[in-house]
Amino acid sequence: MPFVVMITGIPGVGKSTITRIALKKSRAKFRLVNFGDLMFEEAVKAGLVKHRDEMRKLNPNVQKELQMKAARRIVEMSQSEPILIDTHATIKTPVGYLLGFPREVIEVINPNFIVIIEATPSEILGRRLRDLKRDRDVETEEQIQRHQDLNRAAAVSYAMHSNALIKIIENHEDKGLEEAVYELVEVLDLAVGEYD
Ligand code: AMP
Ligand code: MG
Repeated sequence: MPFVVMITGIPGVGKSTITRIALKKSRAKFRLVNFGDLMFEEAVKAGLVKHRDEMRKLNPNVQKELQMKAARRIVEMSQSEPILIDTHATIKTPVGYLLGFPREVIEVINPNFIVIIEATPSEILGRRLRDLKRDRDVETEEQIQRHQDLNRAAAVSYAMHSNALIKIIENHEDKGLEEAVYELVEVLDLAVGEYD
């Protein structure tokens, strides 16, 4: 049976760092797939964008087609190995929040777990200010809180259309990364033996 874990969290929450360390520690050998990378490859092929940060400004229906193409590729990959999808529960577009996994798309992927990495808005803001590589929109703490609230709601709707369990992992400065990594490793290790 395929084993697919989606990992979500808003920019600055520490998702990439936790993921990288957890993959090294897990006994299950996951293939890490960045959903935005797959969508971006399809978008470039179709001549729609030149930079990945342009994607969230595309027409929502066009973004949905890219999501579906990426999802189909993941289903194929998941036949032979467990997949960890680095992605977003919702994407903030100039005209409103876009669902990262509309019904048709989540049904195709049918993940086992939806992991949400969270931190406090002030921790997130601090991390964003220290990482200025990306073309990120500047947000207030209130906007960050609202986005995280919405992501929980979105995760529930994804669980409604798949067999997924929801796992919320907090990544706080004081607690350190270690505990968050450990909680993710526990989820990943459930894939051990699934492909034998
Ligand atoms: P990231 O590098 O993970 O921040 O993702 C880069 C971009 O990929 C995002 O800004 C979105 O435009 C796109 N992206 C990633 N995951 C999704 C998704 N599930 N649905 C729609 N767009 C996505
Ligand atoms: Mg990332």
